[in-house]
Amino acid sequence: MLITKVKDHRKIQEILKGYNPFVFKCFGCREVHFPEEEINEILKEGQGHLKGIARIDYLCREEFTRRYLEAFENEVRATKSILVFSCGVGVQVVSRLLEEKIVFPGCDTFYLNGFQGVTAQDFDCEQCGQCWLNLTGGICPLTACSKGLLNGPCGGTTKDGKCEVNSEMDCGWVLIYKRLQSIGRLDLLKKSAVNVRDYNLIIRAAVK
Ligand code: SF4
Ligand code: SF4
Repeated sequence: MLITKVKDHRKIQEILKGYNPFVFKCFGCREVHFPEEEINEILKEGQGHLKGIARIDYLCREEFTRRYLEAFENEVRATKSILVFSCGVGVQVVSRLLEEKIVFPGCDTFYLNGFQGVTAQDFDCEQCGQCWLNLTGGICPLTACSKGLLNGPCGGTTKDGKCEVNSEMDCGWVLIYKRLQSIGRLDLLKKSAVNVRDYNLIIRAAVK
């Protein structure tokens, strides 16, 4: 099970004002705490900057999300950016479906003991409590990289872009590089120093 916590309100307002995004809110997992009232307050404050909002259940199900994208095609086409309030899996699904957009996570995802709604399919979220996906093209460095590296590849990537730990797996950092290159945001790798991960935010070890 997991809990989603809204990111710093000021930073979200900056995204709304600076990028005029389309917004997804996922309320799919009934067992999961989703702070919808808090999110609605934030969106109300920044409503003049939104291209549109979709409230969706199970954003983590790619086939559902694809249908919603078709329904909101015009609004989504009118912006280069998407703001997603969901767990990390939902953000990754939207990022893959909209590879040409910048996708911002509006929440951080934390671990809680117990069942987690719909089982994630292609994507996984380590529930790290500090979502980096806006810096990594929507690809999670913790789950796409065998070593969970946050600051780039380990140096062992093979010439054909595979992981040195598992030759059948694409290197997560090659995927991140290619994604950022395709949206013209390689500058994120040069300019954005990813903070040292705060392991205090991961309560998994403390939960017996
Ligand atoms: S960075 Fe990865 S592990 Fe952390 S919350 Fe985002 S998707 Fe989950
Ligand atoms: S080769 Fe790539 S995916 Fe594998 S551990 Fe190194 S950086 Fe991570």
